[in-house]
Amino acid sequence: MSYPNHLLSSDQLLEVFNLTHTATAVHVGETAVIQTANDAMLRIWGKDRSIIGKSLEDALPELKGQPFIEMFRKVWLEGLVISGKDTAADLVVDGKLQTFYFDFEYRAIKNDAGKTICILHTAIDVSERVLRQQAVEQALEREEALQREQTLNEELAATVEELATTNEELVATNEELQETQETLHVLNNELELRVVERFNQLSESEKRFRTMAEGTDIFIAVADESGNAIYFNKSWVKLTGRSVKDLLDFGWADLIHPEDRDRYVDIYLSALAEKKPFTGEFRILTKKGDYRWLLASGPPRFHADGSFAGYISSCIDITERKLIEIERLNLNKLIEASSEFIGIAELDMSIQYLNPAALQKLGWLGISKRTILDCVFPEDRLMAEEILPGILKNNTFRQEIRFWNEKTGIPFWIEWNGFAIRNEENDQIIAFATVGPDITERKLYQEELQGINMEMAAANEELATTNEELAKTHDDLIRYTNKLSDSEEKLRQAIETGRMGTWSINPKTLEITMSSFVKELLGLPLDKPAEMDMIMKAVNPDYHKMLFSALDNAMKNHLPSDTEYPINNLINGQEKWVRATGRVFLDQNGNPTEYSGLFIDITEQKLDELRKNDFIGMVSHELKTPLTAINGFVQVLQRKAKKDEDNYAIIALDKAHSQIRKMTTMINGFLNVSRLESGKLLIEKTNFSLDELLKETIEETYVSQSSHQIILNPTCEVNINADRNKIGNVISNLISNGLKYSDNGTRIEITCKLYDTEVEIQIKDEGIGIKPEDIDKLFERYYRVQGNHTISGFGIGLYLSAEIIERHGGRIWAESEEGKGSVFHFTLPLS
Ligand code: ADP
Repeated sequence: MSYPNHLLSSDQLLEVFNLTHTATAVHVGETAVIQTANDAMLRIWGKDRSIIGKSLEDALPELKGQPFIEMFRKVWLEGLVISGKDTAADLVVDGKLQTFYFDFEYRAIKNDAGKTICILHTAIDVSERVLRQQAVEQALEREEALQREQTLNEELAATVEELATTNEELVATNEELQETQETLHVLNNELELRVVERFNQLSESEKRFRTMAEGTDIFIAVADESGNAIYFNKSWVKLTGRSVKDLLDFGWADLIHPEDRDRYVDIYLSALAEKKPFTGEFRILTKKGDYRWLLASGPPRFHADGSFAGYISSCIDITERKLIEIERLNLNKLIEASSEFIGIAELDMSIQYLNPAALQKLGWLGISKRTILDCVFPEDRLMAEEILPGILKNNTFRQEIRFWNEKTGIPFWIEWNGFAIRNEENDQIIAFATVGPDITERKLYQEELQGINMEMAAANEELATTNEELAKTHDDLIRYTNKLSDSEEKLRQAIETGRMGTWSINPKTLEITMSSFVKELLGLPLDKPAEMDMIMKAVNPDYHKMLFSALDNAMKNHLPSDTEYPINNLINGQEKWVRATGRVFLDQNGNPTEYSGLFIDITEQKLDELRKNDFIGMVSHELKTPLTAINGFVQVLQRKAKKDEDNYAIIALDKAHSQIRKMTTMINGFLNVSRLESGKLLIEKTNFSLDELLKETIEETYVSQSSHQIILNPTCEVNINADRNKIGNVISNLISNGLKYSDNGTRIEITCKLYDTEVEIQIKDEGIGIKPEDIDKLFERYYRVQGNHTISGFGIGLYLSAEIIERHGGRIWAESEEGKGSVFHFTLPLS
């Protein structure tokens, strides 16, 4: 806070303080109504406080006819500053009208808008000095006049004496008139000589005056009785840059600062009118082009006969003093206008001055009988009492403290800066000044900040704990990462030994990454990224459709994939069977980040399976041959038993025939599976009536299974193009399952539905039903529902049915409710 410190230097504050000892009054309005007047002013006026509130004329009626009331009016209306030096004023003091002399100033104090709000009236009674000066001057003048008179008298006396002598001589020498005349002539000549001498003496005195005037720094001018200048000394020429001739011709009034000109000319002219001394201050334009302040004073000159001769005016340069004065005034204004708390207190703590901002902050109307402690918020007074004595030792103090508004009781924070004010003469501390910016907002902000800091500290502690935890987690993580890299290594080794590779597809860029095992398997270049085109070239074309649909399903529906297909190595053409498993990895928002999985060489496994299938096929085929022979012999025996009417043999052979049928169906199933696996299951399509096939199949089944009620709903009478035998196997298998997995006596209902492009067959039972989790798996090879194993079967019937239907371009599915029954559906296209 260097600015306020600078403003209130001890010197300046001393000046502020000194002001209060000047007689001061504040007036308002055209009639100069007295707002306030300090004791010094009241003393000057010879009045008591009863005059406060009165106009100047009412308070001091003796001023009527004197220029002051008019001056006040002018200051008020025009916002001027009028000042005077050694100015005479007639005042009634102690009941007598007396003339006093004053240095005074009437200063218009303006608000921010430039409007005059009051007149600051200061005056110093200089009567004593002026009167003394006048007395000295008059005594001097009288002495000079006396001296002049004496000299003249002496000269005259001498002359008269001489004349008398001459006269005597004339009388005595009456007769000698001629002689006398001659003597007279001589005398006359002598007299003339004396007059010349006297004249010479006079010019000598003027010369002396000129020498003196020219040799001084003071600006001296002489005016005649009409007030016109007749002489300027060299200082004037030096100051104004005008020659004496120009000064005499044009005068100097035009060089006066326009703001001062009228005022000063007025002072001069009114003095001239009354032939009284004048004094005034004004700024004059110098030859350098700047203005200097001059203090002019001119006592009137009088001829020996007492007639008015004009003025000898002398001016001194008071610029330095004036600038200090102006600076002081500006400082005052600044203090008044400052929003900071500024005040001056005596050492007994009584307040001498408070600026308007301070008064407003405190909610005070005035400062009388107030102490600086009254400003301090009661809770902080102890602290203030401790600080204040320090002013005597330290000269300054600074303390953040709460002052308060007495009206509202609300405290406000200020940065309380105190400075000691010293008496210039003896350096004694006489008062102290207080300057304090309001820091309430900063304080509130600090408190808020402190709150935030505390919260931050708490948060920091939490953070530290979290950090510790994190560090632990980090350690754990490192351990896990180590373990993970171990596991990864193991996995890599496992993958390699398991004849596996890894692959992944970036869902966004569709970029494919494959381990070298996969690339080698497919015959792709190891040093280049794998491309879909090349991969598909290696894959058996029969499986392209299936692969693309799996890829599509994974990308769109994020479903896992598990596919098996044969490939041909692109380099050596070797055929291999592979299994590709895949899974889509999602981010937090459910967006796919990676589709990846394993690529397994299952050629060995596949060959094993094929060998197994071939074996099953071979066995089934081999079993079928003797079975066909047995079936033939049983049929022959049945015919013979019927002929012999051998009832026992008839029943036994029926049962044998039924078991042969069952076994044939089973063997056909295995045969078909083996054919399917080795790609030898051929579909031989013919045109046939679906109705007839349904009726035929039901009949066959019904014959062997009469335990249930088989219902064929109204048929759809449609001809289809399909493999009659195999579709018959499907229907037979579905009806058999219905019978197998439901209680005796329940119903099997068969429905046929005809649509535009396809026909749908439904086979509904009232049996044990299927759990939801099993439904989709029923159509897998060898799949059997857990717990149904008491019912005979191999889990190949639905697998074969599904293959057959799909190869016909139809669909097969099941709906079921556990314990209530199942419905198996399949469709076949009509075209
Ligand atoms: P299986 O020879 O075992 O019947 P399938 O392939 O025909 O073989 O059927 C597979 C499995 O589906 C069966 O083991 C059985 O658990 C279940 N299943 C098939 N049809 C039905 C049905 N109508 N009701 C209940 N479960 C059935």
